[in-house]
Amino acid sequence: MPPANLKVLISGGGIAGLTLAVLLERAGIDYQVFELAKTVRPLGTALSIGPSVMPMIEQLGLLEKFVALAKVNDVVSNFNEELQLTSTVNYMEFLGRTGYPNYVISRPHLYDLLLSQLPKEKIHMGHRVATILQGDTEVTVSFTDGTSATGHILVGADGAYSGVRKSLYDQLHLAGKLPLSDQEELPCSSVCLVGQTGPLSADKFPHLKEKYCRFENISGRDKPYTWLTFCMPNNTICWMVIEHLYMETNRSEMVRSPAWDQGVADAMIDKVRLFPIPSGAPGLTLADLIDETPRELISHVALEGKFFETWYAGRTVLIGDACHKMYPSAAQGANVAIQDAIVLSNYLYSMNDMQPETITKAFEGYHQERVDSARQAHETSERFRQLFRKRFINTVIRFMVKFFPQWVWNRVFDKVYSNRPQVAFLPLVEDRGSVKAFPQRSLHLNEDALKVASLAAPAS
Ligand SMILES: Cc1cc2nc3c(=O)[nH]c(=O)nc-3n(C[C@H](O)[C@H](O)[C@H](O)COP(=O)(O)OP(=O)(O)OC[C@H]3O[C@@H](n4cnc5c(N)ncnc54)[C@H](O)[C@@H]3O)c2cc1C
Repeated sequence: MPPANLKVLISGGGIAGLTLAVLLERAGIDYQVFELAKTVRPLGTALSIGPSVMPMIEQLGLLEKFVALAKVNDVVSNFNEELQLTSTVNYMEFLGRTGYPNYVISRPHLYDLLLSQLPKEKIHMGHRVATILQGDTEVTVSFTDGTSATGHILVGADGAYSGVRKSLYDQLHLAGKLPLSDQEELPCSSVCLVGQTGPLSADKFPHLKEKYCRFENISGRDKPYTWLTFCMPNNTICWMVIEHLYMETNRSEMVRSPAWDQGVADAMIDKVRLFPIPSGAPGLTLADLIDETPRELISHVALEGKFFETWYAGRTVLIGDACHKMYPSAAQGANVAIQDAIVLSNYLYSMNDMQPETITKAFEGYHQERVDSARQAHETSERFRQLFRKRFINTVIRFMVKFFPQWVWNRVFDKVYSNRPQVAFLPLVEDRGSVKAFPQRSLHLNEDALKVASLAAPAS
């Protein structure tokens, strides 16, 4: 258990930052979250949350609440543009193999659930981390509004364009300690539109009446687009349209382009409106979803993928997209970000003092325990991305994949879902899967930590 005065600063109130905050709250470790957005406005789309993080949700006592907000995803159905079913993957296999099904939950619901566990005064909205200053005993972050905060440990959970990572890397670069690959920008090869409708008529969209989440994936024939729909609770549909770019680019180039403004989203909406969707009734198109989605809840985002080598230095450590940004093709980014938070919280909990060497040891342990599994998720995302792209080779791969028997998919997902880390300082949950979870080093750092630490009642 760390000293009572340990203070952790978390930059970023996204999935990684909020999950870590919930865990530190339960561990009784002091923390503050700094989020650049002035109000919580997560992108309105679906998140596929899998068996790899469900043990933690159960350990936190949030399983019932989570299940009430989510839908189980039984099958992923792939269609061509003529809406003929080309292949399916059965996700219910995971229930027996891991003890949990795969869920789909809207991002705002997951944020609300995490935020409901945190005292409001620990979340500071409208704070953008600009620079960090690491000292012998403390670390100070400066925000763009001129204010600052000081703590013993800084966690950069601030996403793909992390302010913490930028400041840390600038310093490492000056000192000649930054690997070349970490100096390169994040490559981007697709952009997408995402949104979530308001409540729809189940007569017009009959799939909404079904118990399970319909997850439908449509591949354009002569166009560089893939589009997906997910039937959610409360008769809403989350949707997403991916445009595969012909040339790889990066954010600086995109932002420099005159087309990169509000108009770019509207232009994409116009292009994709008439794409057909198989949501249960004939003749439906994306326009039937777009027109039912409040315009301010439609987002246009670039999709990048990059695995960073440097995850920590001094008193600063990175988690989530800040150190491994994945294409959403295998729906892994949020799951892996949550796993990072679990493992980092275990190492922080195991620290007996705040000496620099103790902190370095904790960060080293976190990195060692996470790096292979995060890299594997990154590589799986990259392979899945090849299924969506529109070059000839990708068409061949798609054709072959159609004939994959279910056992091949099971092997792919067993690798991903055998990582089911648990929180060392909360009561452990029984592994109910027929494919057992991988051993987890951070559960045995300090056998005392296996004792139930803090069952503090969550903030109302
Ligand atoms: C369209 C789409 C669909 C996806 N679907 C899935 C899915 O189904 N399943 C899945 O597992 N993953 C999915 N992902 C990936 C997932 O969304 C990310 O991996 C996940 O959100 C990463 O969480 P994070 O907290 O690390 O980063 P973010 O969610 O990006 O959060 C970072 C936070 O930090 C804040 N911030 C940024 N800079 C600063 C700063 N300088 N100072 C302070 N705060 C800052 C941001 O405002 C943000 O709130 C999807 C991604 C996209 C784009």
